[in-house]
Amino acid sequence: MDLVIKNGFVIDPKNRIYAKLNIGINAGKIRAVTSSNLEGDKIIDAAGLTISPGFIDAHMHEDSYDVDNDEFHINVFDCMARMGVTTAIGGNCGSGPNRPDLYLDAVDKHGLPVNFGILVPHEELRRSVGENNKYKKVHPENIEKMKNLARKYVDKGCLGISFGIRYVPGLAREELLAISQVLQKDNKVVSAHIRDDAKQVIPSTRELIDIGLTLGIPVQVSHIGSMGAYGQMEELLTLIDNYKAQGMDISSDCYPYNAFSTGIGETTYDEGFLERYQTTYDSIEIAEGEFKGQRLNEELFFKLRKENPELITVGHVMKDEEVDMAITHPAVLIGSDGFIHDSQGHPRASGTFPRVIKKYVKEKKTLTLYSAIEKMTYLTAQRYGLEQKGGLSVGQDADIVIFNFAEISDNATFENPTLPPTGIKFVLVNGKIAVKDDKILTRKLGKSIRK
Ligand SMILES: [Zn+2]
Repeated sequence: MDLVIKNGFVIDPKNRIYAKLNIGINAGKIRAVTSSNLEGDKIIDAAGLTISPGFIDAHMHEDSYDVDNDEFHINVFDCMARMGVTTAIGGNCGSGPNRPDLYLDAVDKHGLPVNFGILVPHEELRRSVGENNKYKKVHPENIEKMKNLARKYVDKGCLGISFGIRYVPGLAREELLAISQVLQKDNKVVSAHIRDDAKQVIPSTRELIDIGLTLGIPVQVSHIGSMGAYGQMEELLTLIDNYKAQGMDISSDCYPYNAFSTGIGETTYDEGFLERYQTTYDSIEIAEGEFKGQRLNEELFFKLRKENPELITVGHVMKDEEVDMAITHPAVLIGSDGFIHDSQGHPRASGTFPRVIKKYVKEKKTLTLYSAIEKMTYLTAQRYGLEQKGGLSVGQDADIVIFNFAEISDNATFENPTLPPTGIKFVLVNGKIAVKDDKILTRKLGKSIRK
């Protein structure tokens, strides 16, 4: 064996394993999971540590790739690796690279800190055909062109299509339906940041469910905490559960924070948002630039929205107990929704996975470690059909996180959103050590994931 992990406690929900075992790795793959002794060129002594399949982030926002200069600007992928994520799913909320196919090619050429799979971002399809008014419906001829583009990217291995319906109010049912139709062939996922939140979350979820049912394709409702943790979470989870019980392939994801993050110019802050969230301007924090850390007032809000619409803000508006309800629900996946620009952003990019273990397994005791790991690994791999990921079966890719359960803790804050967590001892990506004791050893091990 190239590498043997000895004496650790293995938790692998895919294979129903919860036991002290040794793991042998060769040529990037898991070759043995056994109580017998294994010999290897390199040994990790994991005595006292927990071994899990590498975490899979069901929903994140990838770093940019500069096509002209052929280079990545690595920010969030470092955060991912340091919190134990070995596979990240990007292209979410309808936004991402204009050419997801070239992005995947670049991942394979340069490598990344983590493995990466992508959804086709719908807003870029609009951009590619010159439809730049988000409040307007698309011309029918352009729908056909967008559909052809989407088909091309899906055929090149994108895992599905994502829509940011919230951000494109002009997106009508015929556009959603026509583009999502290309997913039927391989039964890939349609994912969405749905049209509206709070009191409108149920009809908005039904709009997406209708697309899934009409086409018979899997549906993913993105970051349900920021959509329905304003008094609607129980109804939202029940709605999703009911469709699931009827045999629909529907799932959702959530991040473990009670604050969302978005640009100040986004439609999230269109007229009426204070009433919608039943809040005041001072619940909105500025996350970067000269006003970083300050709360908004009416004057500052209108000034910044006009002058700097890209400015990242954090809305401290969700109900804690409803985020808890989502995170601990057995069918809800963990997705950080993380993004980082120039070290700024939301702590969810650096803290999500350790935080779920710390807050819900260790402190509140509302999740077992086994079910937390299941939501972070196997269930997410299943959702996106990633057969090589999410488990420690012999023959699977050796993506592994080794952590100290007693120590594991998220450290990132709104003040300092890129602080690495504590307790992540080793992160292995494709059989090699990518992170050791919070330090990134190499950023080259991650590969593209195509389906
Ligand atoms: Zn979103």
